[in-house]
Amino acid sequence: MFTKTKNNWLFYSQNRLCILCGLHPASATQVCNACLDDLPWIVNACLCCANPLTTGKQSQVICPTCQKKRPPFTQVIAPFEYRFPIDQLIQLAKFNGQAHYLNPLAELLSEHLRDKPLPELIIPVPLHRKRLQERQYNQAALLAKRVAHNLGIPFSNRLLIKETNTRHQAELDRQARSKNLRNSFHCTSSPPASVAVVDDVMTTGTTAAEISKVLKAAGCQQVYIWIIARTPKELHLF
Ligand SMILES: [Zn+2]
Ligand SMILES: [Zn+2]
Repeated sequence: MFTKTKNNWLFYSQNRLCILCGLHPASATQVCNACLDDLPWIVNACLCCANPLTTGKQSQVICPTCQKKRPPFTQVIAPFEYRFPIDQLIQLAKFNGQAHYLNPLAELLSEHLRDKPLPELIIPVPLHRKRLQERQYNQAALLAKRVAHNLGIPFSNRLLIKETNTRHQAELDRQARSKNLRNSFHCTSSPPASVAVVDDVMTTGTTAAEISKVLKAAGCQQVYIWIIARTPKELHLF
């Protein structure tokens, strides 16, 4: 009985169809090779903030914003622009209670990170406990845990907490976003020298900057920001 169930599971897992087209066999990321090619990969981005650059060919550059004032984080790594179908998967996972869509996203992020500098610890962008009660889960924590497992790096859901239940960042402009978050994150213990902070999307980078400041003030030297998707600057709402 066990063998039969196990064989059925193996058959299912080896013959699963792509979650995007439903037509072709999926790879380990649950997406088929044709759909993988069509994803909105960022091919040329600022080496610091990962903002997609519009210059034609791939180059090793820091964008004018980061040149003017270097952000507190060491580097943002983002495989995708926040566009279809990645935006749809993230929204389904975040707001429609379909957390299973986080699994392929975490697999895609893990694959993208294989040749990148790795930190000593992986943490999620924390949610305030009231927000966590409303949503039932922190999508960033589910992503971070799976990525940490895939890469064999320790994960902590406790190092950084959000003590103040701030307004939704999407309701605010850039300046108000920064003020809204000030002093809302706290380290509960000393961080290691290098930490990666995982989130689903990065828009203006205000949250990443605030968290990086808090981690650095607590003794962390390198703060990497790992996200699934980056909103291109021209698409910022404010
Ligand atoms: Zn497909
Ligand atoms: Zn930049």
